[in-house]
Amino acid sequence: MGPNSLLSRRALLSYGAMGAASLLIQPRSWASSLEERPAYTGPRVILIRFGGGVRRRETIDPDYTYAPFLRHVLAKQGTLFTQMELDQIKDVTTSHGEGTLYLLTGKYGGFTNLGDFGDRFESKVPTLFEYLRKSFAVSDHEVLLINGEDRTSEEFFSFSNHHSFGVNYRCQVLSLYRFKVYRLRQQILAGVFQGQALEQKTAELQKLENLDYRNEGGYIYSPKMIQFWEEWRQYYGDSGLVNPRGDRVLTELVVWALQRLKPKFLMVNYQDPDYVHWGFPAHYTNGIAIIDQGIKRIVEAVAADPDYRDNTIFCIAPDCGRDSNQFLSVPYQHHFNSRSAHEIFALFVGKGVQANQIVDRTVSQVDVAPTLAQLMGFQAEFAEGNVLEEVFA
Ligand SMILES: [Zn+2]
Repeated sequence: MGPNSLLSRRALLSYGAMGAASLLIQPRSWASSLEERPAYTGPRVILIRFGGGVRRRETIDPDYTYAPFLRHVLAKQGTLFTQMELDQIKDVTTSHGEGTLYLLTGKYGGFTNLGDFGDRFESKVPTLFEYLRKSFAVSDHEVLLINGEDRTSEEFFSFSNHHSFGVNYRCQVLSLYRFKVYRLRQQILAGVFQGQALEQKTAELQKLENLDYRNEGGYIYSPKMIQFWEEWRQYYGDSGLVNPRGDRVLTELVVWALQRLKPKFLMVNYQDPDYVHWGFPAHYTNGIAIIDQGIKRIVEAVAADPDYRDNTIFCIAPDCGRDSNQFLSVPYQHHFNSRSAHEIFALFVGKGVQANQIVDRTVSQVDVAPTLAQLMGFQAEFAEGNVLEEVFA
């Protein structure tokens, strides 16, 4: 089913016309036939997008790094690929959505850009989320994508439109955007708004939910997800002002998720170093340091949790590199498909991963997905990359 047929169906299902009463209807059942698939007994996997585009120099270069935990502590415990690239010859785009999908699918260009919506990519090949859930009896809340608040286009990475995978194997998404949708829906259902305010809030909810056109009739929150957001709401209140912001909130969501949802596989999409597009170098270097602190906190949370300790694999890789443009006062301001915008790295650490190893052969960003697939015990059959054999201890 292509995007056009979904769009026309959405047009028919005019949510606004149905009014607030339609919020009470849960359009799909949560019951899925998990029992036919074997239980998942592999390691837990945490994929960290060191994102917003970063260069090797400010991350894995031991002399210039702004990520000392990553480079000087964690790298010693695992296998660091210092020469990973987004393919230099193929027609790839060195940007955020694209790089994230290369990581998640193991394929360059396996997606459609939905022009109507700007930078919104719908994958045509399965994501790691879907492979995992199709191979094993894993619930949707055990497979998580944790996104930044202002990148709702990344909501589209939760499932592909591949005919034998797709929405039935989707992951759940945690983000402040999802929380806002949840809170507004709950407030409307609880009768907080009346009359004109109710109409206005219902329209606002419709607008928020329709940012992802695939989500006909609104997001469905399973009991586990409702419990999660309810706790978040009780802790941080309804103001939305108290919780941490930017990439710090992503770290907070990861730690909460590990404790409450116990995911088997989680991807977190850090992004803040990208604010350097505005031209301030500190946005970039501080952003890297904040991600580094986030990684440290997640590693500590894993070490403190018996469900995760000694049974978790981390994979840390950027979405893309950045330029090294000597004619600009901030040489790494953008990532315009230059050579260094293709240059990234990957660090694998954890159960069954070779420790204290640096691999300096050239490898490809699309190698990450098939490698993680093998670590989790399935095959990413539509990936074009190769399994990184050095990872396996
Ligand atoms: Zn950017």
